[in-house]
Amino acid sequence: MINKPLASSNSSRPAVVVGLRGSVWGLYLTLRCRGCRKIFEVYQPTVAGIAVGGHVCPQCGVRSEVLPETLEEALVRFFPSYSYQEMAGLTEEAARLAENWHQVKPLPRVLSYRGINLGEPTERWLAAFFVQGLLQTLKDGGEEA
Ligand SMILES: [Zn+2]
Repeated sequence: MINKPLASSNSSRPAVVVGLRGSVWGLYLTLRCRGCRKIFEVYQPTVAGIAVGGHVCPQCGVRSEVLPETLEEALVRFFPSYSYQEMAGLTEEAARLAENWHQVKPLPRVLSYRGINLGEPTERWLAAFFVQGLLQTLKDGGEEA
């Protein structure tokens, strides 16, 4: 086995995840480089929900590999787990908000163009944003309105 220097861009090690934040489009991981300990944030692509690939440290070039089990462990650590019932409830509430916001007066009048409420086509997109907001509220222990 050939030992490579730490700074080699070919060095590859399991990722150390020290932070995680979700967005509508995916996950951002905060990694600590095993080579130089630099902390850096990366976007983590997934294919069918499975983490793929690694990230090269911008300081020393060591590659941190994010394996499916690495991501799963980080998700458990950084995101509280919710029951199926809680998630179904959040999804239902997000859909209710997305389907109704543009019906609240005076929005139908403000958003209407030639008799069509332009808020309606946003429903599907907004539901995803509302789910994120509701999840954050749950995490922060927010009170019901
Ligand atoms: Zn590094």
